[in-house]
Amino acid sequence: MTCIKRLFSKGPRSKVAWLIGEALTSCRCFHAELVRHESSALPVVHHSKYVCDLAPNHRFPMGKFPRVLQCLLRDQVITEKQVWVPEIASKDLLSCVHTEDYLDNFINGKISEQEQRRTGFPWSEGIVRRCRYETGGTVLAAEVALQRGLACSTAGGTHHAFPSYGSGFCLLNDLAVAAKYMMDNSPTKRKVLIVDLDVHQGDGTAFIFKEEPSVFTFSVHCGKNFPLRKQQSDLDISVEDGLEDKDYLSTVEAHLPWLLETFCPDLVLYDAGVDPHWEDELGRLRLTDQGLYQRDLFVLKTVVKRGVPIAAVIGGGYSRDIDRLALRHSIVHRAATQVWRECGM
Ligand SMILES: [Zn+2]
Repeated sequence: MTCIKRLFSKGPRSKVAWLIGEALTSCRCFHAELVRHESSALPVVHHSKYVCDLAPNHRFPMGKFPRVLQCLLRDQVITEKQVWVPEIASKDLLSCVHTEDYLDNFINGKISEQEQRRTGFPWSEGIVRRCRYETGGTVLAAEVALQRGLACSTAGGTHHAFPSYGSGFCLLNDLAVAAKYMMDNSPTKRKVLIVDLDVHQGDGTAFIFKEEPSVFTFSVHCGKNFPLRKQQSDLDISVEDGLEDKDYLSTVEAHLPWLLETFCPDLVLYDAGVDPHWEDELGRLRLTDQGLYQRDLFVLKTVVKRGVPIAAVIGGGYSRDIDRLALRHSIVHRAATQVWRECGM
C-alpha cells in the first residue's frame, strides 16, 4: 500500500530529527509494570499533580483537570480501579523533542518575562511539575493503548509547544513526546497518526514532525483562530467560523477513513479538544455537546474497528464555569466507554 506520508514528505529526515532519534534509543522502557494492572475496563490515566496553583483570576481553567476525573467517578462512568497513574516525564524522555537549553531553562525557572507572556503562564515549580506529569500521562496512555487497544488521559494535548519554546498555554508538547517515544521504542519503527481536532491548529506538533515520514499530523481547526501564523501539518483542514455539528462531522468523516487506509498507522494519538463547542470562550465554532460526542464516537470507533490502538487526550477547552467544562471534557471518556463495551474490549 502506498504510504501517503511519503507523498506529502518534503525530503529526507533532517539531521536534528536523526539526532533526536539516536538519543531516544537509550531510553529505558517507561512503564515496566503495565501488565500488572488489575482492571480489564477502559484505562483512564490520571495524576493528582496534573494541576497546580494559578492566580484566581487567571484565564486558564486549571481546576478542570481533577474535576474531569471527579465527574467520571461521580457519574459512575468509571471506577477508581480503572485509573492508571503515570510517572513524571524525565528530562531524558522530554529531550526526544525539546532542546537541552529549553529544558534546562524551563525546569530551573530561567524563563524571561517575554517568554512567560508568550506561554500565558507565570513560571513556577508547580507548573513545571504539572506539565511533566501531563506528558508522562500521555506517554502512559499511548503505551497502555498498544496493550489494550484504547486508553484516555484526563489531561494532555499541549500542541502549541515547539522544541525550544512554549506558546499558547503549552509548555511541553506531550503529543510529540509520546509519538516520538512510541515511534522509536520498537524493533520496527512504529507509524503514528496524530488526529488533532482541537479548534486551534496543532502548530508545534506539525513543525516537529514536518520531516518525519513515520508520523502523520492531521489537524482540523478554525482558520481564523490562534495561532495566527500556521505551520504545515501533513493534512490541514481549515474551517470557517460558526461551523455547526453536521458540517463539522462530515468534514472529519470525509478524511479519517482514507487516512487510516493509506497511512496504516500502528498507533493513533487523538487530541479531543472541546474548544469547538459553541459556549467555548476561545473557540469560534458552534458544536454542541451531542456533536462532540458524535465526533469522539466516530473517531474512536473508526480507529478501533480497524484494529489500530488509540490513545486520547482532552486538549483545549475554555470556560469560567469549571464544572460545565469538566463535564464537556468527560465526553471523550464517555464515548470511549461506549466503544469499549460495543467492541467487546
Ligand atoms: Zn485549543
